[in-house]
Amino acid sequence: MTRSWVGVDVGGTKVLAVRIDASGEVQATATRPMPGRSAGPEAVEEAIVLAARDVDGGRPPVALGVSAAGLVDAAGERFLFGAHLPWRDTPVRRTLADRTGLTVVLDNDANCAAHAELVAGAARGVGSALLVTIGTGIGGAIVLDGRVVRGAHGLAGEFGHMQVVPDGLACECGLRGCWEQYCSGRALERVTRVALGRHLDGPEVTALARAGDPVALSSFASVGTWLGIGVAGLVSAFDPGLVVVGGGVSAVGELLLGPARTALVHSLQGTAYRAVPALVPALLGPEAGAIGAALLARDGRS
Ligand SMILES: [Zn+2]
Repeated sequence: MTRSWVGVDVGGTKVLAVRIDASGEVQATATRPMPGRSAGPEAVEEAIVLAARDVDGGRPPVALGVSAAGLVDAAGERFLFGAHLPWRDTPVRRTLADRTGLTVVLDNDANCAAHAELVAGAARGVGSALLVTIGTGIGGAIVLDGRVVRGAHGLAGEFGHMQVVPDGLACECGLRGCWEQYCSGRALERVTRVALGRHLDGPEVTALARAGDPVALSSFASVGTWLGIGVAGLVSAFDPGLVVVGGGVSAVGELLLGPARTALVHSLQGTAYRAVPALVPALLGPEAGAIGAALLARDGRS
């Protein structure tokens, strides 16, 4: 009998499910659209249950892992808040366990992605690493000495809202000068709009940069420089062996990571006398959250 584990990643626009075997190999994937916010929490729970069934191969998994975009409490019981999900301080783990009859593990999506990169991706074999995901905003996770660090309330790794510019650009969170205002897909679009006088979306800027367009290259250099500046602060705080950069904006690769490495060295003290961690692209791509949730279901939440 083959044992399997299912991971489901719940994002703003879709629910992505994967089934893994005992070795962590992905056996099946499925995607369902995310019900609109107005559909309510039960509709999201239903989509998770159906997506998990889409991949289970007709046999219940040993356990179900759920990766969710937002704040999850330290115990992994409650989803506290996420801008794109309808749950508000909701006991999601227990609700899904009652509905499915399965052992359910719940964690924040960046923590799940970090676990996946640690076990099967770019941080494999590295005891201490940081994950920075650059999409619409910035997500993050901290792995120290082989464990995902969650903090006293489960909220560690929310790097995007560190203030990097006092009285800087207004952020959706209500503060000013947050890192993700300068280093994100939105920042990429804003910098390009200021330079060009018209709006291009992230994939359009990426395509132009790959074709060598100087404005698009300069936009990525700006976002990459801010990436390096922010990462330098994180390196000072956590001393990771590696910094893994994921998320949609990072798909452009070296055009972002090159300027980031330069800024990291310029912004870190004592670089002639210390190890500067490598900045490397994430390996698992958009399925990292779901794979990490399945691996957490297999390994248990540390
Ligand atoms: Zn903010």
